[in-house]
Amino acid sequence: MSFLTIEKIKKSFNNETVLHHLNLSIKEGEFVTLLGPSGCGKSTLLRTIAGLIHPDEGTIHIDGKNVTEVKPKDRQVGMVFQSYALFPNMTVQENIEFGLKMKKLDKEIIKQNVARVIELVELTGKERSYPRELSGGQQQRVALARSLVTQPKVLLLDEPLSALDAQIRKNLQKQLRSIQQELNMTTILVTHDQEEAMAVSDYIYIMNKGHIAQSGSPHEIYTRPASEFVARFIGNYN
Ligand code: ADP
Ligand code: MG
Repeated sequence: MSFLTIEKIKKSFNNETVLHHLNLSIKEGEFVTLLGPSGCGKSTLLRTIAGLIHPDEGTIHIDGKNVTEVKPKDRQVGMVFQSYALFPNMTVQENIEFGLKMKKLDKEIIKQNVARVIELVELTGKERSYPRELSGGQQQRVALARSLVTQPKVLLLDEPLSALDAQIRKNLQKQLRSIQQELNMTTILVTHDQEEAMAVSDYIYIMNKGHIAQSGSPHEIYTRPASEFVARFIGNYN
């Protein structure tokens, strides 16, 4: 049973087609990665799912509902970008609460929900810190918490770890995967890092020039690359 379905999504910018009638299907609770070289259309596809970009053709369904024409804020998706985009003049607590401000929730409920995600991303004790007082990895965990606190149906991650040092990145990959599993959160990660994709994903879509070059489990893709492009991309990365 598919939880998120993308059918024949096409998108062009200035007469250049960036997404060529793509199809994708993701199960509830699955961790799916869009993997491919820079410029292949990963962010465009993710932003289309978020509703930040309107496709020229095709449809997007989330949880049985056609959301193709639905506004971003009504799609119940959470998004985390490479740059953390935290509010510098707000504390960790306030940054995370901000995501809930629009929802008109009871103050006590907001407090409980924020405390829960802070614990989940292991930032307990940092509630009153400001972003500048945190490491890059900690800031990115705040950004993740800010998304999770809204309890999205789908979590969209656009290279959230790419700016971090290798060791921190590896630790955060593990943490991200474990949080995702604990919440059974349907997640789509965009990355150009094949090792990262192999480490965290249930299923991988490899993209090349706006097409899906191959999809499969990490094991399938690693052991049976369907084309020279996939073999090179998987093999050559270091
Ligand atoms: P990726 O995330 O895989 O690096 P993108 O989705 O950002 O790739 O970009 C895919 C292609 O679409 C690139 O050639 C990029 O220049 C182009 N593109 C992306 N956004 C826009 C835009 N708003 N206007 C024009 N071209 C764009
Ligand atoms: Mg991108």
